[in-house]
Amino acid sequence: MLSRAVLRRRGAGGFKAMELASVLNVGNRCSPGILRRFPHHRNQLACFSRVSRRAPSPGDAFGASLSVSRRKLCNAPQAAVAAPAPKIGANPDVVKELGFEEVREEFISEYKSTAVLYRHKKTGAEVMSVVNEDENKVFGIVFRTPPKDSKGIPHILEHSVLCGSRKYPLKEPFVELLKGSLHTFLNAFTYPDRTCYPVASTNLKDFYNLVDVYLDAVFHPRCVSDPQIFQQEGWHYEVNDSSEDLTYKGVVFNEMKGVYSQPDSVLGRICQQELFPNNAYNVDSGGDPSVIPDLTFEEFQEFHRKFYHPSNARIWFYGDDDPTERLRIVNAYLSNFEANNSAAESEVKPQSLLSEPKKIKEKYAVGEETDTSKKHMVSMNWLLSDKPLDLETELALGFLDHLVLGTPAAPLRKTLLESHLGEALTSSGVEDDLLQPQFSIGMKGVAESDIPAVEELIVSTLQKLADEGFTSEAVEASMNTIEFALRENNTGSFPRGLSLMLRSMGKWLYGRDPFEPLRFAKPLEDLKAKIATEGAKAVFSPLIQNFLLSNKHLVTVELQPDAEKSAEIEALEKERLAKVKASLAKQELEELARATEELKKRQETPDPPEALKAVPSLSLSDIPKEPIHVPIAIGEMHGATMLRHDIFTNDVLYAEVAFELRTVPSELLPLVPLFCQSLLEMGTKDMDFVSLNLLIGRKTGGISVYPSTSSVRGKKEPSSKMIIRGKAMASQAQDLFSLMRTILQDVQFTDKERFKQFVSQSKSGMESRLRGAGHRIVASRLDAMLNIPGAVGEKMGGLSYLDYLRELEKQVDTDWPAVQQNLERIRTSFLSRKGAIVNLTADEKNLTKADSFVSSLLEALPETEPVVCTWNGILQPCNEGIIVPTQVNYVGKAANLYDTGYELDGSAYVISKYIGNTWLWDRVRVSGGAYGGFCDFDSHSGVFTYLSYRDPNLAKTIDNYDLTVQFLRELELDDDALTKAIIGTIGDVDSYQLPDAKGYSSMLRYILGITEEERKLRREQILSTSLRDFKAFADVLEHVKEKGIVAAVASAEDVESANKERPGLLQPKKVSL
Ligand SMILES: [Zn+2]
Repeated sequence: MLSRAVLRRRGAGGFKAMELASVLNVGNRCSPGILRRFPHHRNQLACFSRVSRRAPSPGDAFGASLSVSRRKLCNAPQAAVAAPAPKIGANPDVVKELGFEEVREEFISEYKSTAVLYRHKKTGAEVMSVVNEDENKVFGIVFRTPPKDSKGIPHILEHSVLCGSRKYPLKEPFVELLKGSLHTFLNAFTYPDRTCYPVASTNLKDFYNLVDVYLDAVFHPRCVSDPQIFQQEGWHYEVNDSSEDLTYKGVVFNEMKGVYSQPDSVLGRICQQELFPNNAYNVDSGGDPSVIPDLTFEEFQEFHRKFYHPSNARIWFYGDDDPTERLRIVNAYLSNFEANNSAAESEVKPQSLLSEPKKIKEKYAVGEETDTSKKHMVSMNWLLSDKPLDLETELALGFLDHLVLGTPAAPLRKTLLESHLGEALTSSGVEDDLLQPQFSIGMKGVAESDIPAVEELIVSTLQKLADEGFTSEAVEASMNTIEFALRENNTGSFPRGLSLMLRSMGKWLYGRDPFEPLRFAKPLEDLKAKIATEGAKAVFSPLIQNFLLSNKHLVTVELQPDAEKSAEIEALEKERLAKVKASLAKQELEELARATEELKKRQETPDPPEALKAVPSLSLSDIPKEPIHVPIAIGEMHGATMLRHDIFTNDVLYAEVAFELRTVPSELLPLVPLFCQSLLEMGTKDMDFVSLNLLIGRKTGGISVYPSTSSVRGKKEPSSKMIIRGKAMASQAQDLFSLMRTILQDVQFTDKERFKQFVSQSKSGMESRLRGAGHRIVASRLDAMLNIPGAVGEKMGGLSYLDYLRELEKQVDTDWPAVQQNLERIRTSFLSRKGAIVNLTADEKNLTKADSFVSSLLEALPETEPVVCTWNGILQPCNEGIIVPTQVNYVGKAANLYDTGYELDGSAYVISKYIGNTWLWDRVRVSGGAYGGFCDFDSHSGVFTYLSYRDPNLAKTIDNYDLTVQFLRELELDDDALTKAIIGTIGDVDSYQLPDAKGYSSMLRYILGITEEERKLRREQILSTSLRDFKAFADVLEHVKEKGIVAAVASAEDVESANKERPGLLQPKKVSL
């Protein structure tokens, strides 16, 4: 399922609050910081088959957690100084009795954890059991699944095994877990060489339930004996009667069409495949839509039989649960198998190094009217080694990656962007998630004639860095940033134990030491010592020279824009389908139509209640009655409100200052995101931006600035804040606040060339977003037609923003002083300590210490009375068909429920979650073939939105939205199902948060006026939701059906055919891409 959190992230970092968590337990924003701000990971690596609520979305910033190089740096564990924990492990007698042998045990001081590796003697399965005090327990099972072709077997299998199993014989146990468990993580991913099935929960009973459903799913799935599951998740011909044309349907088929519609993904895939001409990485494990239909059910079955076997399994446990019980649970599954040779068969062969560089040219689809003069992409990729690197070299490469690319001041990034040869960087950096590490760097938005210049500049910059080395400030800044991140171990909403599992797996999977990636203290000390004695140049220059400059295994990929490519792909598919149809006898076609009908019928028939009962669930008595408490003390200082949260943070201080943003005139709003970027990346009179950035890196754990806008329930005026957010070791609090002051007051908007870069980078980012995250564009468009915060968000991150950027790019050249003046006007309008809110999260001792530094910051700020402007500019409501080159659509429909007089009740959360996990999942995804279908209710504004993601349909999806009303009216819900729906909703409300997220959420509640009483009331309403509430909600949703507006991001052809089918349905709006 697609994450609702994805929606929340639209806008320029603002909390356009749209999901439940934002009301009751306002969700965790992406944490700021240099490491996060530039995730230059390659998102092609992992294919998230189902993106559950709190999972990273494909390609979004947090997906970076899957890139080991990033992970190693930013998601590493606490550098513990505490005494070793007592030795805890499974009961040795039971270990033996269950047929395990202990391979090795280590105390990992970095994590305050005891890790024990076991081997299941009969089958050879390996189990890593990590014991510590973390309540967010994690389980994962991983199989090596290298594909031989691009038919997508590993990916389709990953989807399919979660569609029913021996013990859980229902259509989708996975969805039942989504609906009714307290999981803090639930998903599965396909890599180029492995498939991972992780779950997490803080509730022990819930955790065991999740583990059992997953183990049964991977070892005894129904999909290997039931071809209809393969057809649904993989591919099948769809035809309603024999006179109709055939089409392809299938969830993975459409998901991958979406992936292949994104130029960045296409580039990433080609780079990987060309870099590894001779092994499993030469093909696409996710599946190429042009060959997915070659896959047969027999090949699919065989792949499962071979690789989903204990002998090829690596199992991970992490957290505060009983280690003996872990072995008992897995043995119950493992002991039914005999050893096989899958471990040998699944080995990935190393790619030997090429003796000569090679160049590849390919094409990607752009719109017919697009100006293609600056649309080329180029990426240089080195395979770094043909054998495993030692830990110290790996760590040094991670540092090098941060030094050359990790911040706006990093020289390779800076030089390339300042050259104006391209608009933005392509996915760049060290990638060491696969058997052999690689390094990529490139640019997009390049003129064809400039491609050689980009390549030369990359090489000459690397050469210069190898010759001259890095400044000591730069090295110190990278060192501090990385150490801070290691110590803080802030994995955001991603469970810490999962981040560790993925890291360990990167070695374990290849038969290397799984403990090694869990340690960083010693190698870090060694590296620091080496830098101290030999100098940074002696450490980094040889790396650049040997791994890059002298390395002949270099693949340069150029991607050229092609206005005909879209039509070509479409035509090829049509032609192929026509051929198939022509080869079929009438009887065979009728058979296909019957099969289509049967599959639909099956998909639309609910599971019998007995089957649903098979999936274990908690009962309401397992649920705490009270909302999660976050301590808050409210005070005042120099005219500002002080919020203090006394929470243990391991000596890190988290701080936000929020200013009133409604002081900014309406016409300047689109400039706000670039204003924020300028504050951080423009420099002051005494300090250029490089020095400023290095100072931030040396003294803090990161600082960010962004706007935040939301409706406030019951009020006409929205809430809108400018937030500056930072973190530092408490001992560096003075530097943190002093830097915040510098950023807010001293930065000068003088660097026209840099500003131009920001504009073209943002433009390029928006263009990728239109193709890859069309649902966000749709949602923001609809919201902009319904309320002011929506319109504000759209101006700062929607389609209007793209239009604005295209104009602004010209204005910078023709009238730079006016732009400068506007930037200055924004600053003067909001910067005042009056009415500001300071939010601090740390323990009492550190909170008290911070006071004098906060005071100095506030004293330095102006004291002007904020003057609130009237904001207008709601978009004229109309049904819009936004046309872009894409193989799949994104369809939305929305209306404001408060317009009907509806009054918020906690049951609304239960019901909208239920609709998303049942009706929309079944109709839009399962039978419609889209990758995702969901709905969202923004309880602040009252806007209810239906959305689809990577959808082959358009008008039909809207029909399904409208049928929700009928679905609710006819709904029958037994107590079990209702309880599950309630528990699942509580799981959202109580989502697991690290300390910084707790403090931040509390601030947002304060800003939006959500009191503890209200949270309690909503919780009671959630817990007492009844079937009657569902029926009553049907009447409310009638309003969306009747009065709702529609928007879609779609291909020209699909908009046209939707309009043919229903004249006047959509007003076409072409966007050149
Ligand atoms: Zn998938």
